[in-house]
Amino acid sequence: MDQLIAAHNSKKLHHANLIYGGAGEDPLPVALSLAAMLLCETETACGTCRNCKRVEKLEHPDLNFTFPFVSGGNSGTSDDFLQDFRRAVLKNPFLDPDSWQRQITSKNQQLQIPVKEIQNLQQKLSLTAAEGGNRVLIIWMPEQIKTTASNKLLKLIEEPLPNTFIVLVSHGKNKLLPTIVSRCAPWSCRPLDNNSFTEHFQSSPEQTSKLLSMVFAPNLGAAITAYDDPESTQIDRFAEWMRTCYKGIPTEITAAVNDLSTLPKESVKTLILRSLHFLERGFYHNVQDTPNSATDLGAINVQKLSGAVVPKGTFGITSSLGACLNDLERNVHVKTTLTHTSYALHRAFRGN
Ligand SMILES: [Zn+2]
Repeated sequence: MDQLIAAHNSKKLHHANLIYGGAGEDPLPVALSLAAMLLCETETACGTCRNCKRVEKLEHPDLNFTFPFVSGGNSGTSDDFLQDFRRAVLKNPFLDPDSWQRQITSKNQQLQIPVKEIQNLQQKLSLTAAEGGNRVLIIWMPEQIKTTASNKLLKLIEEPLPNTFIVLVSHGKNKLLPTIVSRCAPWSCRPLDNNSFTEHFQSSPEQTSKLLSMVFAPNLGAAITAYDDPESTQIDRFAEWMRTCYKGIPTEITAAVNDLSTLPKESVKTLILRSLHFLERGFYHNVQDTPNSATDLGAINVQKLSGAVVPKGTFGITSSLGACLNDLERNVHVKTTLTHTSYALHRAFRGN
């Protein structure tokens, strides 16, 4: 952010900027701070002027947003979801794609930015700025723009409009067209560390912030969502499944697999990915030094578990969850792979 301020102060800020970094990390908050600076009456993001107040509420008429959404809205553009987006970002400025998707659909729908959205954008930009000052266009996750629309975006970037700043906020820079990347000033955000978590959750008990950081770091956005809605982490479900695998009773395994299979496939993937993340951290990152309560999931305690299975079983556990994830990516039948994984986990827990 300091470098962006310096570029702005020396009048060297490019009209097209690409701010990139991990999902649920700094890129979106940085883009919003940049917008505040550009739209502020004194161009300092003073935080007190009328414009700053409006940016803070994401309601400034010259602050436009483009973001991925799901089909099914009336206009087929992000306007259908603008209210949801504002609410989501105000609640969680580190909003990550998963949390966003869950807020606008319960179905297994792909987030995307369709051609119509970019056309709508061109239309909006053809009008003059409402306040006669700068205009900022934040495009969150440009990597979700359909290929056919990417060229339209490229055109927008190539033909700068007066006092108009385009800010691409990406969590997948390598998925963007090289021609788009090369025309933007790049700003990379460093991955968030444990301190960001401790700072953000400073009013909560230490164990909570440690547990959230263990499961989600560096994705602070996902941690915030999980904190606000513990159900969504499905950690209980995961713990229950692990316990069942540990015991290895076939009827219970079948029941647990059936239960997990009722979730949308994307949720199963997310659940396994997070669980894997959690266990890896638990196994390989000094779990014995973390307070016991931080590793206690109720049904299982990672600290105890890691003490029991290290070193022989750990590889088996993480590799079978990894294989399960691969299977799901390759569209292997969900119940088949979950059943297979459950028995592999059982063997790993028993150290053979
Ligand atoms: Zn201001």
